[in-house]
Amino acid sequence: MDKIRLKDKEFSLFIPEAEILDAVGRMALQLKVDMEGKNPLFVGILNGAFMFVADLMRALDAPYELTFARYSSYQDTASTGKVNEIMPVRADIRGRTLVLLEDIIDTGITMCFVRRRLLDEGAAEVRIASMLFKPDSLRCDLRPDYVGLVLPGDFIVGHGLDYEGLGRSYRDIYKLVR
Ligand code: 5GP
Ligand code: MG
Repeated sequence: MDKIRLKDKEFSLFIPEAEILDAVGRMALQLKVDMEGKNPLFVGILNGAFMFVADLMRALDAPYELTFARYSSYQDTASTGKVNEIMPVRADIRGRTLVLLEDIIDTGITMCFVRRRLLDEGAAEVRIASMLFKPDSLRCDLRPDYVGLVLPGDFIVGHGLDYEGLGRSYRDIYKLVR
């Protein structure tokens, strides 16, 4: 499909799934090297990262521990600048290396908040792996450790990302036309 419509908005094909999977495969190779001997806890950030988490963990194909947490900050097509903790990390994280798995970093406010929170709770180290990164939108001091694809500021959907709850299930990524 070249174009999709979700509610009042139209989106056009932007990144085909194969390109995403290539990028995620490269992230997995780097993570395998860096996590050697570390016993990391991977933390998938719901809801948006669910598809990326499945892609990445399958690419890793190793006995890593994985859990999920849920935060939200987006409303409509923009960040509210305020982060809500909906489902915290339940595992004991004291002294551990955590790798947060995020769908996309936009303002960076969500990842700054979550990283700070987990370090305060005793994590030894918090790394951030984001499938997508929009560096031009960054509004805090954050440098993700692993990035799949770097994008301009357009609002996108698909491969986990939604517009008002819709569009997460598409394999490809689409960008907002109007
Ligand atoms: P940040 O706190 O970095 O501004 O935003 C993080 C969250 O906002 C992401 O995890 C994602 O859920 C959402 N988000 C950021 N940019 C986009 C986008 O272009 N499309 C969609 N659907 N969600 C986005
Ligand atoms: Mg997200």
